[in-house]
Amino acid sequence: MSKEIQSIHEFDLNLICEYYSTVKRQGPGSPEVTKRALSFINNLNAQSRIADIGCGTGGQTMVLAQNTAGFVTGIDMFQIFIDIFNSNARELKLENRVKGEVGSMEKLQFKDEELDLIWSEGAIYNIGFEQGLMEWRRFLKKGGYIAVSEASWFTDERPKEIEDFWMDVYPGIDTIANKQAQMQKAGYLPVASFILPENCWIEHFYEPQVQAEIDFLNKHEGNKAAEGFIANQRHETQLYYKYKAYYGYAFFIGKKI
Ligand code: SAH
Repeated sequence: MSKEIQSIHEFDLNLICEYYSTVKRQGPGSPEVTKRALSFINNLNAQSRIADIGCGTGGQTMVLAQNTAGFVTGIDMFQIFIDIFNSNARELKLENRVKGEVGSMEKLQFKDEELDLIWSEGAIYNIGFEQGLMEWRRFLKKGGYIAVSEASWFTDERPKEIEDFWMDVYPGIDTIANKQAQMQKAGYLPVASFILPENCWIEHFYEPQVQAEIDFLNKHEGNKAAEGFIANQRHETQLYYKYKAYYGYAFFIGKKI
């Protein structure tokens, strides 16, 4: 990562939040992948309690809710995302069993053993994969499931440029085998893992942002923080196209034992 391009956590959070509220997804994924991850989970019924942690505006939550019975609570730290989430739930007539709430993944308010399923797409890195798996476990019933997508290395070695980039933004990135071992160590039976196809990054995440970036720059003309943020986004996108053979997201599905 070049020096003039700062990492994401140094930018104004409000600007980042405003930018991401203009796109459908805040991380890589797709409806097909959400449904595929769900296909490994067989304990759900109309009474089930499900939580989607770091739900953003709820792109994947609505797919989850349309393909399960039960109650889904979306948790995200940003009010603006939760407002969009709840308005999407109303539009889809899901508001009776899908609710977004502002909250922190570090201080979840669920009761012990309340949940049948914990879902989290592209968000657990904020607390750390191992940490999240360990801390969230107590909210699951025995035999309950956890399904998370997480940045992963696909090879044991990779070019220095991409290694350095990830060590700066998320040193917790690891191989799929190591992530599965971490899941087992945290008290879950690893049930399934699979790599998200490239269309989750390209069609569902990066392509919709091309126009969003232009609109955002026009709106914030002359704002250095906004310009820096978009430069950073574009740099990350270029790195993905260059190094997608070496990393991406994988879904990890585990059962509490
Ligand atoms: N699951 C969504 C969003 C992924 S982006 C999707 O796949 O599209 C990560 C999300 O985690 C963001 O919406 C961000 O606001 C949220 N987040 C980051 N740190 C958090 C925290 N400590 N507690 C709750 N949510 C958090």
